[in-house]
Amino acid sequence: MSEIMPAACVIGHPIAHSRSPMIHGYWLNQLGLKGHYNREDVLPENFAEFVRSLRDHGYVGCNVTLPHKEAAFRLLDRASARAQHLQVANTLWFEGDVLCGDNTDVEGFIANLDDRAPHWDTHLKKAVILGAGGAAASIIVGLQERGATDIRLVNRTIEKAEILAHRFGPTVHPTPWSDLHQSLTDADILVNTTSLGMKGQAELDIDLDPLPRKALVTDIVYVPLETGLLRQAKQRGNPIVDGLGMLLFQAVPGFEHWFGQRPTVTKELRSLIEDHIRGVTP
Ligand code: NAP
Repeated sequence: MSEIMPAACVIGHPIAHSRSPMIHGYWLNQLGLKGHYNREDVLPENFAEFVRSLRDHGYVGCNVTLPHKEAAFRLLDRASARAQHLQVANTLWFEGDVLCGDNTDVEGFIANLDDRAPHWDTHLKKAVILGAGGAAASIIVGLQERGATDIRLVNRTIEKAEILAHRFGPTVHPTPWSDLHQSLTDADILVNTTSLGMKGQAELDIDLDPLPRKALVTDIVYVPLETGLLRQAKQRGNPIVDGLGMLLFQAVPGFEHWFGQRPTVTKELRSLIEDHIRGVTP
């Protein structure tokens, strides 16, 4: 009789460029576990049905990416506290017949900073976040969990920043792009969550002059690994952290749920994905 191997997948549309199969494939191999991790391209109109029949497709759980993260949350029987707070889920698994879900982007963002800039939050008070899209919500929650009391949410479309400020409370201050310069004064951390600076997009062109040189600068864009913002910040002496670790650490909880062992974000894994981003490996 053939052995049944646990399988998980990432569901999105489009999904061809997802690096999640490389990450989970590396861990399966490194830990000597039998299992599979696939890509599933599912249209929005078919998503609910696909998730309801996840087990019939042979899956013990899945990651969910754009454009399905809100829909995934609505399908859960049991949501983690973070998923409830954000109304978004990116990691699904079963406990018995109960479909459970979490939002692991918060954990990914925080774990990356803990790993690359230990003690970054020791004196954390003021944060500046650029962007108010889907990813910004997770970054707000992560910074609030680590003690930020003054979060300037700078966005081109101010209405979107106002909606997030309303959802996440009085520590979040919607800020028009024209006020960015003065917002940087006294900041402890600057986070780019816009798509600016990403390969194929316009550069993020800002004047960092008012930013204290001890402020941590991080970009969740990770293609390229060193964005223009990070290069500029490094040149003036600020500590920097790139966004690749967020992608790697957000994958950890899902793997543990599906395959039963907590994996490690190793230097080897990072190098593997770095090479892929640089186009060294196909
Ligand atoms: P999104 O929901 O589409 O939000 C995009 C944000 O970028 C919005 O705030 C948008 O402002 C802003 N923006 C886009 N073009 C702009 C321009 N020309 N000028 C000024 N602002 C502009 O995207 P998302 O899901 O939040 O993702 C944002 C980025 O984070 C993407 O590059 C994504 O790959 C990356 N990301 C990385 C990780 C990781 O693990 N490292 C995780 C999630 C996302 P408006 O509101 O004015 O349109």
